[in-house]
Amino acid sequence: MSGAKIEVFIPAARIAERVAELGAQINADYAGQSVVVVGVLKGSFMFMADLVRHLSIPVRLDFMGTKSYVGTTSSGQVQITKDLDKPVEGEHVLLVEDIIDTGLTLSYLRRNLEQRRPLSLKTIAFLDKPSQRKVEIQADYVGFEIENRFVIGYGLDFEQQYRQLPDLCVLAG
Ligand code: 5GP
Repeated sequence: MSGAKIEVFIPAARIAERVAELGAQINADYAGQSVVVVGVLKGSFMFMADLVRHLSIPVRLDFMGTKSYVGTTSSGQVQITKDLDKPVEGEHVLLVEDIIDTGLTLSYLRRNLEQRRPLSLKTIAFLDKPSQRKVEIQADYVGFEIENRFVIGYGLDFEQQYRQLPDLCVLAG
């Protein structure tokens, strides 16, 4: 963890409360239906693991991997590094993202998944930085709207470090 100073931005207890609320809302919205929950690796892994523990509807889990970020600035390029294991045609799909920043990743993934003809496609993002958008896009469910800070922890990295922190944090100094 080198010598970097890390400050808590959203504590784990507050995250847990919000994730429980989102889970309850999703259970209500999808009542009587089953859903394929698609996590976007790697940033969403912790959020997705917590979220699905609150879901009482039948779910199948799958993952996609994307690469789009170098250091702390978005490169604007999205590349699929891991695709779904199974087709989602005719299924309700809930795409789980860690954070929406420029919106480029989500907009690329939405278009990509729409082409696979799911019965429905909704998106959930743990975090949303609406001030940074380059494309007009919104998630159906958002954990927290935040200002333009570079955040780490709770699955999010800085150069592949800090993903394991249970709180959402910022690098200070
Ligand atoms: P977008 O395509 O919306 O610009 O960026 C989405 C991706 O950029 C996220 O999935 C995430 O991997 C990365 N990203 C955007 N903002 C942050 C941030 O504040 N912290 C970290 N760790 N990653 C971020």
